[in-house]
Amino acid sequence: MAEIREIQNGRALLGRLDHGKDLIEELTLVATKNDFSLARLEGIGALQRARLGYYDQGTRQYQFFEVPKPLEITCLIGNVSLKDGEPIIHAHLTLADEKGHAFGGHLAPGCTVFACEFVMQELTGTMLERGFDEPTGLPLWSM
Ligand code: ZN
Repeated sequence: MAEIREIQNGRALLGRLDHGKDLIEELTLVATKNDFSLARLEGIGALQRARLGYYDQGTRQYQFFEVPKPLEITCLIGNVSLKDGEPIIHAHLTLADEKGHAFGGHLAPGCTVFACEFVMQELTGTMLERGFDEPTGLPLWSM
């Protein structure tokens, strides 16, 4: 049975990230500065270059790959929650190149913003902290 919590919407932020900054660092800064411990996140825009992760379920390690060229952010979607008491961003990206070919994966440091418009919607009514999940080896929500 899935583990479920009921939540409510709190504050919502809409913003634009600075050109040339690191995508996950900037989003983490937004969450931290605004004291968001739980939120959902979405965005669109473009990157100058990308670095994404793929979780290898066999080795239980992330593999990272780079796409060193300009790309559209066709979908940035994710969440904010606490890990070790600090807000962290967990987001996935779908990116497209000049031919419309897509790349996708786990947002990692190394994605340089060309432009990015985002919405961060705070969620209230429960507290979630990430903790080690034995079946997956991932820091998942402890519910
Ligand atoms: Zn992920």
